[in-house]
Amino acid sequence: MLTEREITPRQTRYVTTITNALATRGHATNAELLGDIRSEFPEVSITTVHRVTSRLKARGIIGAAPSAASGAERFDTNPMPHHHFMCGQCGSVCDIPQTNEALKVMHQLKELSGRCAIAGMLTMQGTCLDCARKETT
Ligand SMILES: [Zn+2]
Ligand SMILES: [Zn+2]
Repeated sequence: MLTEREITPRQTRYVTTITNALATRGHATNAELLGDIRSEFPEVSITTVHRVTSRLKARGIIGAAPSAASGAERFDTNPMPHHHFMCGQCGSVCDIPQTNEALKVMHQLKELSGRCAIAGMLTMQGTCLDCARKETT
């Protein structure tokens, strides 16, 4: 029978640090999280980060955000389903507030679609403010 490997105090510290790093960013890939914690834990590998984020996601502590442009899995500090905006230039994502308007759009889409069941949340595409500023300079 498979049992979860024993969790050492060191691993508990990884979990805490990775959870905090994700909370600071809001959304991040394993590679970004690894970069964030490298100064504190130089010995941590991408495999360890992957194991921690997979486990946190399976437990519903963190959620999934739209994948990065590279196709890399991206995690969300907020495990509840919500809409995202994704920049087509730099690939950054941010949350779209769950305003009445956003919920109304979702409701209308559900009615319009008729024959198909919408399961996922929306990902709006566009250009973020940072990239828009770069374009004008
Ligand atoms: Zn951008
Ligand atoms: Zn999000």
